[in-house]
Amino acid sequence: MKIVYSFKKCIGCGLCVSACPAVWSWGQDGQARLNNPAQIEDDWEAGSYPDQVGLAIAVENCPAGAIKLEE
Ligand code: SF4
Repeated sequence: MKIVYSFKKCIGCGLCVSACPAVWSWGQDGQARLNNPAQIEDDWEAGSYPDQVGLAIAVENCPAGAIKLEE
C-alpha cells in the first residue's frame, strides 16, 4: 500500500487531520501534511497500522480528492 497525497489539491478543510492525526498534521500554511508515510506504509504491510478506519475515512471523504491509496 502507498499513500498518495496531492498537496496542490488540498483545500485545507481539516477532515484528514481530524480523522487520522497519526497520518496528517497541519502545516503553517493551513494545508495538511503527510507524516512519515514510509513508516505508515511499512506498518500497513505488516498488519500493525493502528488506525486503518481513520485512514479510510480520510481517503474516502477528502472533498478535494487529494488522498489516494495505491497497491
Ligand atoms: S481532507 Fe483533503 S482537502 Fe481536507 S485537509 Fe485533508 S487533504 Fe486537504
